[in-house]
Amino acid sequence: MAGSGTDTIDPQEIIYCVNHPRTETLIRCSRCLDPICTKCAIRTPVGLRCPTCARRGRSPLYVLAPQDYPIIAIVALAVSLVAGALATQAGLFFTVFLSIPAGGIIAEAVLRARRKRGRPVQIITGVCIALGALAGPVVLRMVASGGLALPANALVLVASLLNLNSILFAVLAIGAAVARLR
Ligand SMILES: [Zn+2]
Ligand SMILES: [Zn+2]
Repeated sequence: MAGSGTDTIDPQEIIYCVNHPRTETLIRCSRCLDPICTKCAIRTPVGLRCPTCARRGRSPLYVLAPQDYPIIAIVALAVSLVAGALATQAGLFFTVFLSIPAGGIIAEAVLRARRKRGRPVQIITGVCIALGALAGPVVLRMVASGGLALPANALVLVASLLNLNSILFAVLAIGAAVARLR
């Protein structure tokens, strides 16, 4: 066999465009590494990218600065603590109705604070909602009793953290917030 001189292409490896499964290609998106064909590839300052990554790379909405992380976390946690406390003040029925709008409000607060969305924002917000759902009722009880009145028994504390309202609130609110921050 005559040497073809192509050192970057392995002839054994045939890859197909993710958007056009019948089109063979030799290029990959420089960000997500998905195979893309020449019809799909978009030239950007950082190399060829798939349409999704090209769009995300262009939009400042998806690019986070270091200071965005703590601000998003503080905003999300503050609102989540209040919503998490409220969610345990009535029956499960009330929690179900409150949780989805509450998740939307938490996402909206995050968006207004930093105008950022995407995967890292979803993860930070989701973690903060879970923390707020667990800690919110405890904080409310401490405020109401005017001090650090944690249950003396560790088991009582754990039981009070893991009530069904809090878990339900966390699941529903995280779902709503993550959908909003996509
Ligand atoms: Zn890509
Ligand atoms: Zn393609």
